[in-house]
Amino acid sequence: MVGARIDTDSGLSGHGFTGTHAHLPGDQLIARCIATCHAPLLLGEDPREVQKLWHKLARNPALQWIGRAGITTLSHAAIDVALWDLKAKAAQLPLWQLLGGPAREQVRAYNTDIGWLSLPDEQLVQGARRAVDEGFTGIKIKVGSTVERDLRRLALVRAAIGPEVTLAVDGNGKWDLATCLRFCRGAEAQDVYWFEEPLWHDDVKGHAQLARATRIPVALGEQLYTQDAFAEYFHQQAIHWVQPDVTRMGGLTEVLRVCDAANSWRLPVAPHAGDMSQVHVHLAFAHPACQVLEYIPWIKDCFTEPAEVDAGFFRRPHQPGAGTTPTAQAWERFRQPVA
Ligand code: MG
Repeated sequence: MVGARIDTDSGLSGHGFTGTHAHLPGDQLIARCIATCHAPLLLGEDPREVQKLWHKLARNPALQWIGRAGITTLSHAAIDVALWDLKAKAAQLPLWQLLGGPAREQVRAYNTDIGWLSLPDEQLVQGARRAVDEGFTGIKIKVGSTVERDLRRLALVRAAIGPEVTLAVDGNGKWDLATCLRFCRGAEAQDVYWFEEPLWHDDVKGHAQLARATRIPVALGEQLYTQDAFAEYFHQQAIHWVQPDVTRMGGLTEVLRVCDAANSWRLPVAPHAGDMSQVHVHLAFAHPACQVLEYIPWIKDCFTEPAEVDAGFFRRPHQPGAGTTPTAQAWERFRQPVA
């Protein structure tokens, strides 16, 4: 993960992060962008003025030609989240409370970590059963190999977990429309909760066609960088579940705009766990559009207040901030200088 720590003259520090899951050179490019393009714009500013600072960074003329999405947005994401972390710490509130929550008493978790495409059938089924035994009422499995293999695995998992547990599938944009249509015809009998990223991320028209052709709801958003990209999906009626991510968009500030827009379209939000749900759990407790939240426990041990699930529901955070403060051990172990 690439992160930003913002120190203030009050002694408080804010933490935010983004990530590419891809190591070099992407992470170093983002770190360089934070250090050289964005950090100088923050010196001397009041970190609580998140909206003003969001526009200062997003409308920086020096970056307009080289990137209105990608490295500059991921870099902005880390900083914006660090600013929200600071704002919540300065108010001595957990972020969900600063945002006006709770909007709900419980946040339902769904488990993605049992459903990877590389798992053999038997391990997939065992993992699904284990998740349900642990109390999860929702799981998601990956698709995108062959239609035949993925339909077989979907049927095996549905048979193993019974009809009550919500079962979503995630294609990560690997298939074309014809393949998606074939898959959906076979999958409709398994009561699929949503089909996530069926097609390439920018193909709004294709998603609209698919949404009209199948009874399975379409979900996407983890690869979209701006509220404008989401707006196009809303207007084309190409999306049923909205999945923004604070580590991919320009931080929480832009994600809140998307959540408000989704709410006005009466579309449910299921934030993508690019942040491993450290920040999104605050969002989900605070925003009325968020109905369910992804659980992938890969890095939770790095934080002073890890995103934890008890019997299928996220624990409500209580520490001031956005849930992004690393433990001293994680900071020492994983910290690397900007090259
Ligand atoms: Mg996904």
